[in-house]
Amino acid sequence: MTPATRTVIACQAGAFLSAASAGYSLTWHPWYALPGLVGAGFLLWGAASARAATDRQQARRARLDHAARADAALLAARSCGAPHHLYPETLCTEPADHYVRDRDSHAGPLIISGRECGGAAWDEPRSAA
Ligand SMILES: [Zn+2]
Repeated sequence: MTPATRTVIACQAGAFLSAASAGYSLTWHPWYALPGLVGAGFLLWGAASARAATDRQQARRARLDHAARADAALLAARSCGAPHHLYPETLCTEPADHYVRDRDSHAGPLIISGRECGGAAWDEPRSAA
């Protein structure tokens, strides 16, 4: 439950209580119900505003998630992906087929034990070349 959802629920509960109070006041005199009805109206307006803000946030989050997935798919399809010979979690993020020994080495974020520790550039071991 998000804070905005809690705001919506609180405003709706407050509007219900305010309307119930107005209904009780109506038994005394019709004008006594006016403050309760006005308060209920403001609380319902606040609930609608919070609900609209939540919808806008969810739509924005969905657009950002979609863009992130599209970027990740694009990068994965075009990157070299060669693992470092000492740290196999470290993968090359350069474009595919870029590697030329001593001129264009593999490069990517250095990952040791699942933690990113800066960047790294490396050539393939001589025995593998
Ligand atoms: Zn590479």
